[in-house]
Amino acid sequence: MESQKSNQPANETSASDNDKEEECCANTSCEQPSSPKQGDFSDPVYKEIAVANGAINRMNRDELCAKCAELKLDTRGVKDVLRKRLKSYYKKQKLMHSAAANGNTDTYFDYICVVDFEATCEENNPPNYLHEIIEFPMVLIDTHTLEIVDSFQEYVKPVVNPQLSEFCVKLTGITQQMVDEAETFHRVLKRAVSWLQEKELGTKYKYTFLTDGSWDMGKFLHTQCKLSCIRYPQFARKWINIRKSYGNFYKVPRTQTKLICMLENLGMQYDGRPHCGLDDSRNIARIAVHMLKDGCQLRVNECLHSGEPRSVPISAPIEGAPAPQTPKKRN
Ligand code: AMP
Ligand code: MG
Repeated sequence: MESQKSNQPANETSASDNDKEEECCANTSCEQPSSPKQGDFSDPVYKEIAVANGAINRMNRDELCAKCAELKLDTRGVKDVLRKRLKSYYKKQKLMHSAAANGNTDTYFDYICVVDFEATCEENNPPNYLHEIIEFPMVLIDTHTLEIVDSFQEYVKPVVNPQLSEFCVKLTGITQQMVDEAETFHRVLKRAVSWLQEKELGTKYKYTFLTDGSWDMGKFLHTQCKLSCIRYPQFARKWINIRKSYGNFYKVPRTQTKLICMLENLGMQYDGRPHCGLDDSRNIARIAVHMLKDGCQLRVNECLHSGEPRSVPISAPIEGAPAPQTPKKRN
C-alpha cells in the first residue's frame, strides 16, 4: 500500500500567526547560524572584544601584571607582551563563550532518535481529517558505534475517533484491541519523555530527532498536542528530515526518497512490516546508519515554525535538542 506520507502536503492544522508558543525560534536559530560566522564582525561578541582591548590599552605595566597574575597567566615580559597576552586571552574566552552560548560547539550528535508515528486514518483521508497518534515508537542510534542501541514503543488510545477504520487496521496492523488497551497520548508522552531522560539525552549527551518526511512532527505531533491540550514539546521543534538529507547527499530526485526506495537504492530490503511504526523506525534508522557510514553528516534541516514545518539551512550549527521535559498542559 502506497504511503500517503510520500506526498507530504502542507500541514492542514495551521496555528494562528501570533501563537508565540508554537514558534520555534523567531527567525533566529531556525533560520540562521546563531554564532559568529568566520569574518562576520557584526556579531556583538566582537564589540565586547574591542571594549576589552580598549581597557587593556589603558593599563600601565603594573596593572597588566596584576591582571595577568589574577588570571593565572604568565606575568613575565615587557608591557607590549603582557598586553598581547591579555588580549589573546580575552578574545579566546569571549569567542568560546559566545560559541558555547549559541550551541556552536560544532561537535556532532552522540545520539539520533528516530521517530515514526502511526495515526488514525481513512482511505483517501478527507480534507481536514484529524489524525490522532495511535503508535509512538522511537529507535536510538549511537553515532559513535553506528548501531541501533535501544527502542521504545507504545500504542496510544485515540479519543476523537476511538474506533479505528478497517482501512487503518489493515494499513498499520494496529488492532482495535491494541488501542483500547492503550493509554491516552498525554500519559504515553510522559513515558516517552522519561525514556529519553533515562538515556541522559540533552543533558549528558547531544542528540536530535530524525523522521521520514515532515509529517511526524509537523502534522501528527502538532495536531495531537493540540487535541490533547499539551504544549508542543521544545525538544521536538527541530529534526532531521531524512528524505531531504538523502536526496541532497546522494543527489537523487524526491521521487527516490520514499522509504522502500531509499532502502533498495542502498542495496537493502525492508525488514518487518511496513506501516508498523516500530518497524518503520528501525528501517529508517538503518538508512541513517548507512548514510553516516558513507560519510554523510546528518544535520538538522527542518523545524516547526508557527505550526508549520520549515526548512533550516544546512549552514546552521549542529545544535542538540534541549533536554526533554515532562509535557505541560495548555490553558
Ligand atoms: P507511515 O509512516 O507511512 O506508515 O504513515 C504514517 C501514517 O500516515 C499512517 O499511520 C496513516 O495514518 C497515514 N497514512 C500513511 N499512508 C496512508 C494511506 N495510503 N492512506 C491513508 N493514510 C495513510
Ligand atoms: Mg510509519
